[in-house]
Parts: sequence; structure tokens; C-alpha cells
Amino acid sequence: MKPIEEYVVSIPDFPERGVIFRDVTSVLQDAEGLHLAIDKMQEKLDGIDFDVVAGPESRGFIFGVPIAYNMKKPFVPVRKKGKLPRETVSIEYELEYGTASIEMHKDSIKPGQRVVIIDDLIATGGTTEAIIKLIEGMGGEVARIIFLMELAGLKGRERLKDYDVDSVIIYP
Ligand code: 5GP
Repeated sequence: MKPIEEYVVSIPDFPERGVIFRDVTSVLQDAEGLHLAIDKMQEKLDGIDFDVVAGPESRGFIFGVPIAYNMKKPFVPVRKKGKLPRETVSIEYELEYGTASIEMHKDSIKPGQRVVIIDDLIATGGTTEAIIKLIEGMGGEVARIIFLMELAGLKGRERLKDYDVDSVIIYP
């Protein structure tokens, strides 16, 4: 089996010039790559006491659900604004260009619950920071944050310095 890094295809100048996009679909479309990615992310939760997995639309669902299922925990989706049918809490956050809003169902995290956040990739950390605010606003506690990939040069980890963050693959 190849190391997990070798399943990621890096695409220069996508979605715009100067950006190297780390494509996760190349990992998912290989049975061994998919297994390895889930297993390596899940290993990072060994010994962690938690109640719920939360993951953002859409790639956080891909990795969050199998890990929650394997560990017999519930999964809570974090969605783009306007998609969830019941009462929500929402937050607006800054993107490189403009802003975005994400939401969670208001009853999805109970006060005192320990939540693991899972996503495919951390860039600036802005998305994760917004998710943390939603979880803490509902009285939850962030137990750990796991990514498959980290773009270390964008310093997302510094933004999340008060939290327990780990990634399987770190790009400079
Ligand atoms: P951040 O909020 O940390 O700046 O951006 C992270 C979000 O953008 C993640 O939800 C991730 O899916 C997406 N993202 C940004 N750059 C890339 C990339 O190079 N590859 C992939 N797969 N996702 C990216």
C-alpha cells in the first residue's frame, strides 16, 4: 500500500492562479486510499473521550460519518445557510473574498457534550473557527479537531491555538 500522501493529487492554479489545490477525490476514488484516510484520521482519536462528531458540508461529511459510525457516535452536520429544516444557530465568517454563513440545528449539541470536529483540510482555519463558535454557543466543548490535510503556510493552527488540532498530512 502506498503512503497516504501519494493518493492526493495536487492541482496547480485551481481554483485560481497561484493556488495549489489538494484534491481529495483522488484519495476517495481509490479503495485503499479511502481506507487509509479514514483509518489514519480515526487513529488520532485513540484515547479521546468524546460524545459527538461534527463535520462541515460537504467534505467534512465524507470523513466525519464513517469515523462516527466506526466509533458508535452520532454525527452532526454543519451546513451552508438555508439547508437545515429545523431551528438553527448560524454564524457568518470571512472568506478570502466576501463572507459565508454556516448553520447547525439548535438542538444538535447538548450543553456539556464533548465534540470532535472533522474536515478534509485546514487552510486559514476560518471555517473551523466558525464551527467552534457555534458549538461553544450551544454549550458544547471541542474535544479535538482532525483534518486529513493541513496547509501549514496559511497558519490555521495558530488561529486555533487554544484547541487540540491534528492533521494526517501537513503541506508546508
Ligand atoms: P479555511 O476556512 O481553513 O480557510 O478553508 C478550509 C475549507 O476550504 C475546507 O472546508 C476545505 O474543504 C476547503 N479548501 C480550501 N483549500 C482547499 C484545497 O486545497 N483542497 C481541498 N480539498 N479543500 C480546500
